[in-house]
Amino acid sequence: MSGIRPTGFLHLGNYFGAIRNYIKMQDEFECYFMVADLHSLTTHPDTKELKNHVHRVLAENIACGLDPNKAAFYCQSHVHETTELYLYLNMLAYKGELEKTATFKDKVRLHPENVNAGLLTYPVLQAADIILHRAKYVPVGKDQEQHLEMARNYVNRFNHRYGEVFPEPQAFNYGGELVKVPSLDGTGKMSKSDNQMATLYLADEDDIIRKKVMKAKTDSGPTEANASKPDYIENIFLLLKLVAAPDTIEKFEADYNNCTIRYGDLKKQLAEDMVNFIAPIRSKVDAILNDKAYLKKVMEQGAEKANASAGATMKLVREAIGLNYF
Ligand code: AMP
Repeated sequence: MSGIRPTGFLHLGNYFGAIRNYIKMQDEFECYFMVADLHSLTTHPDTKELKNHVHRVLAENIACGLDPNKAAFYCQSHVHETTELYLYLNMLAYKGELEKTATFKDKVRLHPENVNAGLLTYPVLQAADIILHRAKYVPVGKDQEQHLEMARNYVNRFNHRYGEVFPEPQAFNYGGELVKVPSLDGTGKMSKSDNQMATLYLADEDDIIRKKVMKAKTDSGPTEANASKPDYIENIFLLLKLVAAPDTIEKFEADYNNCTIRYGDLKKQLAEDMVNFIAPIRSKVDAILNDKAYLKKVMEQGAEKANASAGATMKLVREAIGLNYF
């Protein structure tokens, strides 16, 4: 089980942190992937663009290889039991620990004018999404580790108070380590809304990709053999490793280690590899977005599968809590 908020264009962080794992998992597991439209309301109260964003996130995931015939791919607001379970979990979540969550503190800092209760309980809604399908594995990026820890706490409290209903969910990644895709300016991670010139979006045109990559921070180069790399250079290599052929990576590593590296060439190579990676996805997205009947069918089919699973879980939940009076 995993979700992505429809708050903007998807980027390489979403692809390598999340979607890449979805595509592999759909062949091995019973999967539920969701467009987290309710979550987006916590930070994006203006809903004028919501429908477009929901369609875009659906199209972008499908263009990347998510197959709605294999996984249940649905919108969060189409599964009403989510909000019921969220309410029950809120009784097991404590204000003090919610206030200490890193993502909450970040958002308070960035948007002090909109610190709403939905934002505070964001991890509770996320836990409800996950355990609604009694999910065990959650393919997410490194930024979500703390939220998963909280989901496990709610599961343990629920099971302890009302009886064993839920398995403990854990973060899942095929590579072992959870991935964090850094921004091109070396100051943080790629993101849908912050830092747009330092983030590569799946919708970016070739020239924009080249421009963004060529602006990435470098310096005059290493002065001694086998030196360790400063963060911003390490980040460029990290990005190269995501998209380049092994011999290309080897060549630039060797050039770095013997101090002959030319960062202009490194960035040109990275830009071309990024263009080759992103361009085919971008054109598939455009084709899917033009087929609204197909998108409607995807959402209906996804909601049907997700509702069946949610209904079965909620029957167990209501009985465990004692909400069965007949
Ligand atoms: P969000 O964009 O917050 O809706 O996140 C959707 C998914 O993408 C989550 O699984 C995140 O962990 C993942 N993700 C977002 N940004 C990054 C990043 N820069 N690096 C790795 N994973 C990311």
